[in-house]
Amino acid sequence: MNRVKRALITGGSRGIGEAIAKRLKKEGYEIYIIARNLERLQMTAEKIGAKGFSCGDLSNEEDIEKLSRFAKEKEIDVLVNNAGEYVYGEIEAMDKEKIKKIFGTNLIAPVKFISACTPHMKSSNWGRIINIGSISGVMGEAYASLYSGSKSGLIGLSKALALELAEFHITVNTINPGWVDTDFGISSVNDTDFTLEETKDIIPQKRFVKPEEVAGMVNYLVSDEAKGVTGQSINLCAGLSVGY
Ligand code: NAP
Repeated sequence: MNRVKRALITGGSRGIGEAIAKRLKKEGYEIYIIARNLERLQMTAEKIGAKGFSCGDLSNEEDIEKLSRFAKEKEIDVLVNNAGEYVYGEIEAMDKEKIKKIFGTNLIAPVKFISACTPHMKSSNWGRIINIGSISGVMGEAYASLYSGSKSGLIGLSKALALELAEFHITVNTINPGWVDTDFGISSVNDTDFTLEETKDIIPQKRFVKPEEVAGMVNYLVSDEAKGVTGQSINLCAGLSVGY
């Protein structure tokens, strides 16, 4: 391919997605980002020097059609399905709206973006797909059943697609962060009955992962060095998945 490679990061306006967008921009990729809040999206796009952005809600069917058309038109080489939503509560409280929001954003949207991006990746015989899962999809998290279920789904999706797309030199992997130092990380702790200090205390390294550490893993997975890494579920969790 004789043009600069293009990377699309969903949820690229803040948190982990912004760190990934910044890192890939630094590595020379042309950057496209997606999120709901237009003002924040525009501000981040300008700050990091993104080539383009599109605004919409990944749990909304009309928006997802528009956003996946955007992804298809841009002929994306590196897709990072990062945007995600969390809900805490008993299973009986998980109504139709919550189910639609969590599975729509965390699992259905990644499927739609992948199918929008693979025609170009197949024709160029190269591609990288990275799904941002969660350690809650590996270990399970009490009262976060929809979140855990949707994030586990990404692991199966990545494995199956790694097999389906291997002949086109497209790799598909999932990164499962533990608690990360972002708005989402802090508010998901606030939703539980535990304090920030109590939460840190159960993490072997006694700290939250930094968004830049996730961005560093993405940067490795998109590299040529990582061409043999596919279908993997990689835990980046300061030791949380290993045990107490
Ligand atoms: P964050 O700081 O809340 O940022 C989330 C990003 O996604 C924002 O750009 C947000 O922008 C966008 N977004 C959220 N819902 C969206 C929707 N329905 N449609 C379109 N855009 C949406 O979250 P983060 O901590 O960076 O998390 C990123 C990913 O890492 C998520 O998939 C999360 O599940 C996963 N993760 C995070 C942690 C953690 O502790 N932080 C741990 C494990 C896994 P708008 O609000 O403007 O839409």
